[in-house]
Amino acid sequence: MELLTGNCPNCGSVYRKNLRDLCTTCSAKLDAELALCLDLLWRSPTTTTDELSHSTKIKKSVIIQFIREGRLPKNCKNLTYPCECCGVPIRDNRLCLGCSVSFAEVAEQLSSKFVIHQGNGYMMNRRLNEQR
Ligand SMILES: [Zn+2]
Ligand SMILES: [Zn+2]
Repeated sequence: MELLTGNCPNCGSVYRKNLRDLCTTCSAKLDAELALCLDLLWRSPTTTTDELSHSTKIKKSVIIQFIREGRLPKNCKNLTYPCECCGVPIRDNRLCLGCSVSFAEVAEQLSSKFVIHQGNGYMMNRRLNEQR
């Protein structure tokens, strides 16, 4: 098996490529942060994204990533993140329903750069983001 190495997208250190696309250090840190979030949500399921970030000292962007990846309990209804277009709080995809409709028209013209996400609107191809 070929061993692929690369730079960790989080801390930049050289690591052996894996499924998570993170070096062991960052991966362990992320696991610890996720455990901290889950622990807090277990005790108070009504916590909002802001409160969670505040009490765990974890960056909001990290928590938002957890929500997007579906790692946090779905029954925690206050865990939202802003629509990338208009800022309305959402819990799925990158855009609210209103924006994904108008976005769909634009996306049609750029269809090669986007992937359809199970009819739930459109998601940017992750690779495009990583190249930024
Ligand atoms: Zn790293
Ligand atoms: Zn929106």
